[in-house]
Amino acid sequence: MNQDVPKLFQINLSGLGCWLTLLATFMLLGTVGLGWLANGILIVIGLVIISPIIGWLGFRWWLKRNLVDDQCPVCNYEFTGFTRTDCQCPNCGEPLKVEQGHFQRLTPPGTIDVEAVEVTVKQIED
Ligand SMILES: [Zn+2]
Repeated sequence: MNQDVPKLFQINLSGLGCWLTLLATFMLLGTVGLGWLANGILIVIGLVIISPIIGWLGFRWWLKRNLVDDQCPVCNYEFTGFTRTDCQCPNCGEPLKVEQGHFQRLTPPGTIDVEAVEVTVKQIED
């Protein structure tokens, strides 16, 4: 048999046959008077091709709205994060959240940031 013919060529040839069959079907539909059906199928194919492009543009618009470029409040390292998600500073590893387009330090609920103060130790004698 034809073992010298690469597989890719065979696939291309069968693809061409498929398109030719499709074209012949459209022509046949046109001659029978079902041109509207052919047009409908063409519109569906057009939608199939166009919808990923629209999806990609929508995704890029969404990214632009949801990406935040800001500096880490701890080490001032500038990086990009998503809004409404918790992230971690790639430089110092500090857990951060995004609020109003800026990174904030993430503290677990109930945690209060306090400053250490020196207290004098009093000894209670009985
Ligand atoms: Zn940092």
